[in-house]
Amino acid sequence: MRLDRFLAETTDLTRSRAKKALHREEVRVDGEIVKNPATRVDGRRVVTWQGERLALVGLRYVMLHKPPGVECSARRGLYPLIRELVDLPKAERLQPVGRLDVDTTGLLLLTDDGQWAHRVTAPRRRCGKVYRIQLAEPLEGEALARAVERFAEGMFLEGEEKPTRPAELTMRSPQVAELTLHEGRYHQVKRMFAAIGHHVEALHREAIGPLILDEALAPGEWRELSAAEVARF
Ligand code: URA
Repeated sequence: MRLDRFLAETTDLTRSRAKKALHREEVRVDGEIVKNPATRVDGRRVVTWQGERLALVGLRYVMLHKPPGVECSARRGLYPLIRELVDLPKAERLQPVGRLDVDTTGLLLLTDDGQWAHRVTAPRRRCGKVYRIQLAEPLEGEALARAVERFAEGMFLEGEEKPTRPAELTMRSPQVAELTLHEGRYHQVKRMFAAIGHHVEALHREAIGPLILDEALAPGEWRELSAAEVARF
């Protein structure tokens, strides 16, 4: 790739600032000062800027324990953004794999590998997402039996033409539900419970397919996935 692009990929410099750094003779390739931004470089060249060796970052895969009050979108609105929690170089390239609402907590995966993200989210792969739900009112007896059936059959949510995919509902206690979804629609858990007359007070994602939120991660903490974890999708 061109040297100015390599600099922009590996530092905080924009391409135009990278050109200025080249002009100021701050960049060396294999020990020689290089000023031409069009110079081709690859991973075999030793590129330094102000004496520091630069390396391209590979693809990254992150597990985050999302705290409440943080937004999954790309642009900052009222709330801080997810990527502001992850202090990796070029964190702005990390995209959440399926979003969580601002008030939802729990397992969020982030990556700059679009194909992997697609594998995790594609509904046909039936990668179950497990949510723990605190309900405002108890759900039990006949009402629970009907809810289990409706969620398992699939239901029409307001304004949508396709029914939801079969989902599995169990109760951990009368006000704490566990729901496994195999797709990810807008506010899906809250809307499904609203459709059966229940309000979700708190929502927490515990697992995505084979990946369970690491207990060692406190809200707001993250770690990179191991190669074995990445390979599970
Ligand atoms: N369903 C919701 O309603 N909200 C989430 O954040 C995730 C699933």
